[in-house]
Amino acid sequence: MQNREYKVVMLGSGGVGKSALTVKFVTGQFAERYDPTVEDFYRKEIEVNREPATLEILDTAGTEQFASMRDLYIRNGQGFVLVYSITSMQSFLDIKSMRNQICRVKGTERVPIVLVGNKVDLERDREVQRNDGLGLAKEWACSFYEASAKAKINVDELFEQAVEQMNIMGKNK
Ligand code: GDP
Ligand code: MG
Repeated sequence: MQNREYKVVMLGSGGVGKSALTVKFVTGQFAERYDPTVEDFYRKEIEVNREPATLEILDTAGTEQFASMRDLYIRNGQGFVLVYSITSMQSFLDIKSMRNQICRVKGTERVPIVLVGNKVDLERDREVQRNDGLGLAKEWACSFYEASAKAKINVDELFEQAVEQMNIMGKNK
């Protein structure tokens, strides 16, 4: 029988909403502030296509002292949620090197990845167009959502999609 545990790693620049999306998904709550240095694991059981799935989510904080630490949690991760904020072009540019690092560590371009443009509730502050995100997702052949932890837009969907991607591509571990 297939292993029903899915190890997901949240990656993205500081302040894009990795913690907010994770906490919203796991507890349903949204806060105006999360400790930006806290790195933690969360677990949640859901059903995807009527199959039970236990997600173990690592919410990273980018505070690891050694680059090799990041390699380690990428190696342990099976699916990746790459988050940028639609209000920050810099965060969108940052995401590219993270995907490169994932592919390098995994030794393949075929990695379950969901690209997420968060904070879509802040339309008036938008710097990254939806088409920019779509274009990158097409280039990477990965899934893409614009989302909002605050307004609960596409939060459950993006984690369900991560599970589906892991089912399709295999979790290689
Ligand atoms: P992280 O560093 O990637 O973990 O980012 P956080 O989850 O700590 O979020 C950074 C800030 O953005 C916090 O003040 C959050 O409340 C806020 N934030 C996160 N997600 C959203 C969102 O979808 N909409 C809005 N308006 N603010 C958000
Ligand atoms: Mg955080």
